[in-house]
Amino acid sequence: AAGRKRPSRAPQELSFEDIGGQEQAKRELTEALEFLVKREQLSKLGIRPLKGILLTGPPGTGKTLLAKAAAHYTNSIFIAASGSEFVEMYVGVGASRIRELFQEARRQAARQKKDSAIVFIDEIDGIGGKRDGGQHREYDQTLNQLLTEMDGIQGDEHPRVLLIAATNRKDTLDPALLRPGRFDRNIQVDLPDKTGREHILKLHARNKPLAEGASLSKVADETFGFSGAQLESVMNEAAIYAMREECDEIRTEHLSRAIDKVMMGERMDRETTR
Ligand code: ATP
Repeated sequence: AAGRKRPSRAPQELSFEDIGGQEQAKRELTEALEFLVKREQLSKLGIRPLKGILLTGPPGTGKTLLAKAAAHYTNSIFIAASGSEFVEMYVGVGASRIRELFQEARRQAARQKKDSAIVFIDEIDGIGGKRDGGQHREYDQTLNQLLTEMDGIQGDEHPRVLLIAATNRKDTLDPALLRPGRFDRNIQVDLPDKTGREHILKLHARNKPLAEGASLSKVADETFGFSGAQLESVMNEAAIYAMREECDEIRTEHLSRAIDKVMMGERMDRETTR
């Protein structure tokens, strides 16, 4: 999900129903989002605003989808960036890019008359990895700017802002990010279990004709350890096999070959990056 891209506004249509499995993550996330929705009530009670939610888990498990669904659920503007794009920036550029991101979120929310904005930063470790003795000044400035933006989030401002960030490795994050009042919530987004895998497969089979007897439950059994992204690939590859054979339905053998292909692809990726 990386990429060197400008702040972009993603489609708002994606909702929690479009995300397979991840029931606990969805529950924890919707609970946390109440803080954004009910901020007036919370401030009356003197509860400090929730500024950041961290989504932690392996690649392709739906962290980006969850952040988009959070924006949909709270009727917020969605602005996204990836931590990887900050890695080799010149001094000062990263920090101003962070400032811009939050400004843009507030500006777009105001323009579209929304009450809130969600800023999503994927691969946050690209910005907020542990500092190594002041070696990387630029990197520090970027992280400092992010901390400043988080500290500047007010409970009573309009539009309200929430930062959602994703990482594969929470242990590599700078402790400053994890202090109370910053990323107050950490939600684990793990690889799906069998029920989750079947749910994800069903979602990705919505627009695909399945032959009678082609069982997604069986595919779910055979894909232990697959991420949501890999399951999406299985369904897509199976449809390609069907097309190549000029079948107008996806059959069991197409699914089996697709599982092998995705599994093999993973293995090759691992070997070439070793
Ligand atoms: P990364 O850490 O690589 O950024 P991620 O956890 O943010 O990964 P997503 O970008 O949300 O993963 O998922 C990638 C794609 O995989 C989605 O666009 C979707 O097609 C599929 N996918 C992943 N998880 C799920 C899920 N739980 N339900 C349905 N589709 C999923």
